[in-house]
Amino acid sequence: MAEAMIEFQSVTKQYQSGQAAVDQLSMSIDKGSITVFVGPSGCGKTTSLRMINRMVEPTSGTITVGGKDVTSVVAADLRRSMGYVMQSSGLMPHRSVLDNIATVPRLNGVSKAEARKRAEELLDVVGLASALGKRYPSQLSGGQQQRVGVARALAADPPVLLMDEPFSAVDPVVRDELQQELLRLQRDLAKTIVFVTHDIDEATVLGDKVAVFAVGGKLAQYATPEEILRAPANDFVASFVGRDRGFRHLAFTASDGVAVHPVTTVARDASAAADGHWRLVVDEDSRPLGWTGPGTGRDLIPGGSLFRAGDTLRRALDSALSSPSGLGVVVDNDGKAAGVVKAAEVLGLIESARQVRRGNL
Ligand code: ADP
Ligand code: MG
Repeated sequence: MAEAMIEFQSVTKQYQSGQAAVDQLSMSIDKGSITVFVGPSGCGKTTSLRMINRMVEPTSGTITVGGKDVTSVVAADLRRSMGYVMQSSGLMPHRSVLDNIATVPRLNGVSKAEARKRAEELLDVVGLASALGKRYPSQLSGGQQQRVGVARALAADPPVLLMDEPFSAVDPVVRDELQQELLRLQRDLAKTIVFVTHDIDEATVLGDKVAVFAVGGKLAQYATPEEILRAPANDFVASFVGRDRGFRHLAFTASDGVAVHPVTTVARDASAAADGHWRLVVDEDSRPLGWTGPGTGRDLIPGGSLFRAGDTLRRALDSALSSPSGLGVVVDNDGKAAGVVKAAEVLGLIESARQVRRGNL
């Protein structure tokens, strides 16, 4: 059993008469894990998040952090004790990146020199070059600004990090990078992170647990991503998760049954295949470079995501479908080509996995 860090006990927030923004929310958030609040716009995610650090006060109910009722802590102190990251980075435009990151440590009485040193370290932690420290926020890309926002939230080394749609305003490629970076960071830091998003894919990628909110501020389901995709608690969750949840679920399905077939490899400068078969082009260390195939002459066709033993069925399918030959390239732990998987076979396994799941529901 994981230890609880944050607990909501029958928490309601009513901004004005009529429907509550958050309605009788009771949930327990595990220490050292990522909990995602997900749901359509206006369903009370931000309100719930902000009640944790008292940016918003509940109308009724109790919230505890580390076993302590949040109302027993001065709101300003509570706020400073937690990291907070929002969609717009919220950086101070007239201050350098380093000074922005150093803000909370400075407020906490850390010396200027020490706060700067810590800020420099944090630039590296969030994957930014140290040269960016002297710039102003407007001189950074959207993705870089969000990284600075994360660095600033981490500066005082808070046990709790609250993140409100921090990656929603950047393009999908950068969002994907930021998500992977957050997961990498979390492996080292093991913070208690509460992360708000309206995107179910982001929720299932990041969340150890996912809380699906429904309109009217009601908690519709609170479970692991896998369980939410496999067994939505009701029609609302099912439709929010989407029709293609059968495929999303593959991201959690092991690929144990996928057959790996031998593949013919050739060196980069070998002459073209004349027999109408696809050949995998590899470098001196047997690492895949691309394909040559029927009608491609000597051209190397790049492409195909790679698949490793132990990856999910989703990755097996991705590798086969993204490959120009229809054969997904399997690599070993050293990145050397180890064989191929066939799209038709992966799809067959997916279909039988789906039937098993239907039978279970
Ligand atoms: P979400 O983050 O899920 O989009 P919010 O928590 O921001 O939802 O909002 C929940 C509901 O509360 C919405 O109906 C919104 O209009 C209302 N609301 C949010 N903030 C305020 C406020 N400061 N004053 C009045 N109503 C608010
Ligand atoms: Mg919101």
